[in-house]
Amino acid sequence: VLFESLYELKNDLKKSGFNLFIAEGKSFDVFKKISGEFEKIEIYANEQIEPYCRRRDESIEKISNVELKLFSDSTIFLPGFILKDDGKPYTVFTPFSKKFFTLLNSGNYKKIKVDLNSLKPENQYSPGYLNQLNPDEENKKISTKGIFDGGRTAGINHLKRFYENGIDEYKSKRDFPGINGTSNLSPYIHFGLVSIRECFRTAYSALNNSIESGKTEIETWIKELIWREFYYNITYHFDYLEKQSFKKEFDRLNWRHDDESFKKWCDGKTGYPIVDAGMRQLVNDGWMHNRIRMVVAMFLTKDLFIDWRWGEKFFADHLIDLDFSSNNGGWQWSASTGCDAQPYFRIFNPVLQSKKFDTEGVYIKKYVKELRDVPSKFIHSPWEMSEEEQEECRVVIGKDYPEPIVNHSEVKELILNEFKKI
Ligand SMILES: Cc1cc2nc3c(=O)[nH]c(=O)nc-3n(C[C@H](O)[C@H](O)[C@H](O)COP(=O)(O)OP(=O)(O)OC[C@H]3O[C@@H](n4cnc5c(N)ncnc54)[C@H](O)[C@@H]3O)c2cc1C
Repeated sequence: VLFESLYELKNDLKKSGFNLFIAEGKSFDVFKKISGEFEKIEIYANEQIEPYCRRRDESIEKISNVELKLFSDSTIFLPGFILKDDGKPYTVFTPFSKKFFTLLNSGNYKKIKVDLNSLKPENQYSPGYLNQLNPDEENKKISTKGIFDGGRTAGINHLKRFYENGIDEYKSKRDFPGINGTSNLSPYIHFGLVSIRECFRTAYSALNNSIESGKTEIETWIKELIWREFYYNITYHFDYLEKQSFKKEFDRLNWRHDDESFKKWCDGKTGYPIVDAGMRQLVNDGWMHNRIRMVVAMFLTKDLFIDWRWGEKFFADHLIDLDFSSNNGGWQWSASTGCDAQPYFRIFNPVLQSKKFDTEGVYIKKYVKELRDVPSKFIHSPWEMSEEEQEECRVVIGKDYPEPIVNHSEVKELILNEFKKI
């Protein structure tokens, strides 16, 4: 996605007479080198509040002749702007979102015209050590297609499709991984191909044109966009989240260091079809449906009682839409260690989640292909099939598909006790 996006950007810039240069290396080293050639340089960029980005920007700002000019465009409001009346940050979503709505007006997401013509191509800086995209590499990478097409055009098409067909049914359909009920915009938002302001503009345009019954559907989508803003604010205010639990007392939990079970979870071989489908979707597609992200995260941190940081890292290594704030927030929500998190005693039952949200097993069968002939009745818990039934659908449990690695009802009590100790 990134490569295709850069390729498209390069071609768009070319139309206005500009080149796209790619610098490889640590940001600090690259800017140090460039700044060495000039008396003074100014860098214009979007502010990023993730711990790594802050460290990067601080290091760049230390270069004496560099002026870093950061702008806020990753979120509707600059992180840190929305505060409680007493000046403290919100740590609960609902009051945060209420305040958000009181501050929001159409000016926050109005269309802004960008005029590249005010820049002069003849003044371009083009040093030899910066690369332009290599045409051979371009062709090779573009021919290996993932499930998402890269580029702003593709992102805008997704947004358009969702506006025309999806946003007014979002609330009703968003929890079912077997149907295309969400916007699939996260990779495009992540790479800055679709801006968060465009999402809000689209949502409010849909809301204004919607019939009454569609309104709550669209409002639910807007709330999800605000969850993202909420988590950005949490990252902004609480700089320890990269390493520690939001509720620090939960770092006393005695997480299990079980490499074998962790590997089975990563490989999609836990014996719980809904969990395995999710993990295989993540590894194959680099993306996972939100409901299933919650299910697999809850399974790792509760059923397997493995530290949320292990799962967060695995997601970070595989997600195409990786976003530190949403990922950390989602993991800590599921592990019950986060702000406004799922209380520890509400543990998802993976079989019930599966029955409720993937009743016919459409999603499971897409990713856990060996279960494709298992009848819907058993698709959520195939270990309940008799030997004859297993033979009939050619899935012998323990041979063709794993036995469940834990017994959910048995471990549930143990986990609750661990949390109660804190
Ligand atoms: C354990 C876990 C890890 C997650 N990791 C990430 C991540 O790395 N990157 C990421 O973008 N999202 C993450 N999420 C949130 C959510 O799963 C994805 O944003 C969503 O699945 C993306 O699909 P979509 O674009 O179709 O979303 P839609 O449902 O169409 O929502 C539209 C947009 O709203 C935002 N959004 C939706 N739900 C959430 C949420 N719960 N929290 C924060 N923002 C949200 C996203 O930007 C999303 O693209 C995570 C959730 C969990 C439970």
